[in-house]
Amino acid sequence: MSRASRGDEFYLRTGRKGARVKRDMQQSLPRAWVEVDSEAIAHNLGVAQRVASGMKMMPVVKANAYGHGMEAVARRLDREKPAFFGVANAEEARRLEASGVSAPPFLLGPVPPQEREEVAQRGWGCTISSWEEALHFASLATQAGRVMPVHLALDTGMGREGIQPQELGELLPRLMELSSLRLEGVMSHCPAADEDENFTREQIDLFTRCVQEIRQYAEPRFVHMSASAGLLGYKVPGANLVRPGLMLYGVAPVPSTAATELQPTLRLLARVSLVRDLPAGHGVSYGRTFITPRPTRVATLGIGYADGWQRHLSGSGIAVSLRGTLCPMLGRVTMDQIMVDVSGVRDVVAGDEAELIGRRVTVEEVARRAGTIPWDIFTGLGQRLPRVYEPFRT
Ligand SMILES: *Cc1c(COP(=O)(O)O)cnc(C)c1O
Repeated sequence: MSRASRGDEFYLRTGRKGARVKRDMQQSLPRAWVEVDSEAIAHNLGVAQRVASGMKMMPVVKANAYGHGMEAVARRLDREKPAFFGVANAEEARRLEASGVSAPPFLLGPVPPQEREEVAQRGWGCTISSWEEALHFASLATQAGRVMPVHLALDTGMGREGIQPQELGELLPRLMELSSLRLEGVMSHCPAADEDENFTREQIDLFTRCVQEIRQYAEPRFVHMSASAGLLGYKVPGANLVRPGLMLYGVAPVPSTAATELQPTLRLLARVSLVRDLPAGHGVSYGRTFITPRPTRVATLGIGYADGWQRHLSGSGIAVSLRGTLCPMLGRVTMDQIMVDVSGVRDVVAGDEAELIGRRVTVEEVARRAGTIPWDIFTGLGQRLPRVYEPFRT
């Protein structure tokens, strides 16, 4: 069979498989895409729920649900009745509401003045760190004719938001006088739950003491401190809500027995667009950082750094999986394309699917080789990549 006709035949096969993308026949199949297993994400939320034994859940779906697609992920997780969905800003909160889920959005970081009116009117969950924010929200809530729930953030060591514990004594009585605000929650965040156990234990003690002090003034409904690493590694006395992000997407930031139960949630795939034989001594990609040491069969794939396949992966020794074989990437990542060595794989043809993140090469390994963290790889996955929702084939 000629290469061209085998290519055609494969194209038909992919065409049929493409039916799951629900594209009309006029539209070409994508060159690169992301497959998401929503059931695996729900399973991982179940693991978080069990580890946190009975605490309420705030699944974190900011940054397009760590690249997995916020609306689809939130709709699936909403069936598990979370208390909130963690988002980063008003735009994400709006998108979340429009997706029709029943759990409200919670804005994780401080709310800049320009977003506050919308937050107060919509009644979204949010934090305050200062008297200035409290006063502003109180007047916006009064204007909107409602009592606004707020969560008081405590800076127990993160240095990103929250009031300093020693300022609590002065703030609390004044806060109680703002009748259009209701202290619905108390929260904090750990900067080193995956790196520094002594610090984290001291931080948890400090948080617990602060919560006791706050309870002399109010009964906050939600007390929360733990993201994935904190949840897996520590108990926070008095806390009743957790904010898992990364672990929902199958990656545990710290080793733990629960970590082994997490299921992978995402595969990154790209199609071979061309296969050629290059002679020895031929440069591959920009800067000619790679020169073929011998005659080499090279496949070009339709994915690049514009899709989130980071340029830092250039020269990192990363490989992609093609027909079950790991094929080393050659030379630099370009904006829309990469080249891989397929000399060791039989029958690779244009149209074949390569797996870049998934079973063979995990997101942790990609992050390590790019000199970054899995959060960065997930959230960097480009807008150009369609998200396809389906259980992973085995
Ligand atoms: C992003 C975020 C989380 C989730 O963190 P993971 O490490 O991904 O679990 C939790 N809390 C806050 C305040 C965050 O900003």
